[in-house]
Amino acid sequence: MAEALLQAEKLKNFIGGEWVETQDSTEVTNPANGKTIVQVPLSGADAVNTAVEAAKKAQKEWALVPAPRRAEILLQVGILMKERKERLSQLLTMENGKVIEEARGEVQEGIDMAFYMSGEGRRMFGQTTPAELPNKFSMSQRAPVGVVGIITPWNFPIAIATWKSFPAIVAGNAVVWKPATETPIMAYELAKIFEEAGLPKGVLNVVFGKGSAVGDAMVHHDDIRVISFTGSNETGRNIASECGKQLKKVSLEMGGKNAVIVMDDADLDLAVEGIIWSAYGTSGQRCTAASRVIVHEDVKERLEERLLVEMEKLSIGDGLDESNKVGPIINKAGLEKIKDYIEIGKDEGAKLVAGGYVLDDDVYENGHYFAPTLFTDCTADMRISQEEIFGPVISLIPVKSFEEAIEVNNGVEFGLSSSIFTSDANRVFKAQRDLDTGIVYVNAGTTGAEIHLPFGGTKGTGNGHRDSGVQALDVFTEWKAVYVDYSGKLQRAQIDTE
Ligand code: NAP
Repeated sequence: MAEALLQAEKLKNFIGGEWVETQDSTEVTNPANGKTIVQVPLSGADAVNTAVEAAKKAQKEWALVPAPRRAEILLQVGILMKERKERLSQLLTMENGKVIEEARGEVQEGIDMAFYMSGEGRRMFGQTTPAELPNKFSMSQRAPVGVVGIITPWNFPIAIATWKSFPAIVAGNAVVWKPATETPIMAYELAKIFEEAGLPKGVLNVVFGKGSAVGDAMVHHDDIRVISFTGSNETGRNIASECGKQLKKVSLEMGGKNAVIVMDDADLDLAVEGIIWSAYGTSGQRCTAASRVIVHEDVKERLEERLLVEMEKLSIGDGLDESNKVGPIINKAGLEKIKDYIEIGKDEGAKLVAGGYVLDDDVYENGHYFAPTLFTDCTADMRISQEEIFGPVISLIPVKSFEEAIEVNNGVEFGLSSSIFTSDANRVFKAQRDLDTGIVYVNAGTTGAEIHLPFGGTKGTGNGHRDSGVQALDVFTEWKAVYVDYSGKLQRAQIDTE
């Protein structure tokens, strides 16, 4: 099925507008059943060097194309993505495992981003401002930075790439993109779409290969002026320190330990729906997944009972089967990490009330499935309440008050997303002010970002930058202040003030 959809047995790099074969490759397998889908190139520094040369050359001309014309290509990309939405979604489910409904949602996010960023081609506002001297004009405007490097993870193989590459391209940069080796198909498809949409050769380059080879070469390449990275904290920190040594701009989006707060005045049925969706959707492998539930002690038992009832209803299996609500874990290593955390939780004294095991009977063939899991009676300082597990595991933490709930929410290393269920308007406003995360949801779960708002987190989740939204342009542009003195004489700022 994958072959029929993909029409390729081995992917190729896309460099300077050409499809380039590589010698080495590795298998990409479907996490739902372990079957090989395609071969992905394992490139090295040479391919990165060639891609950067092509990008440098293309960028010079691309930057001179008026932004509204650049935007027309993005518009066409969005149209082609829309036409191919179902095919892209099925391929996405095959390479990543997420259930088809969620895959369609992710592709839609990319389409939304294309249309939104194509509009930015006619805005990209700077400022005009009065000058302090007579007969003088002043303004600020955005300028592209040149060649940008984009490194993306497997859990949102197309959406995250669009959050980064679309603003970069509309702003007049050229891109070298390294997708995750686990999920290269979306990158291949998106490159083909850009090619068909008429993007000049070299403006987008895709180099497949391992982070330790391709990613590392990008981070250390002198002519890549910005690295935009999404992935794990460990990798992100290393990239940031390497970029720091070179004074290279770096934007990081990393892990989360997101919580849903359920207060004593919450609509419990709604809270349960929100928790199930944000904790077990994508098998908990979203950066915004809820992995903590902070619940007021007065409603703890009722919430727990209802959660257990709804968890029973979750059908788990291949995401291409529309009836399944929870798909597989990306790979064996991911599964092992979750298993380790189950043992850690038990050792710490948390009460395991559901799940906690690998699903490995015949139904699941060679797929990697983990049962949706609920730990209760957790304390805020347990490792399972502090560390990112990246699987379908909830740590439920009882609290005595609203103030304690906020404190527990904020008492982790990360700051990506948080949510609160309450019917008290005063608590809503206090919570949106006091929750120390880049995303706050009220009366909905922790997941579900809209592309015209900034996406990212505080503290250990990032380094102050944002993906998507108009804010993404800040990563890929430099601000330039421009003064035009039309007085015909030398006027010195701050000096000739009389
Ligand atoms: P990862 O292992 O850090 O990998 C992310 C990307 O970095 C991959 O393309 C990887 O390449 C590459 N990479 C690995 N080592 C590298 C190196 N030394 N130099 C340059 N690049 C390198 O993360 P992951 O396991 O794929 O992704 C899951 C993590 O991403 C979770 O922590 C999740 O929370 C986070 N995430 C955050 C957000 C957000 O916006 N905050 C969104 C989604 C995911 P290869 O894998 O191909 O080797």
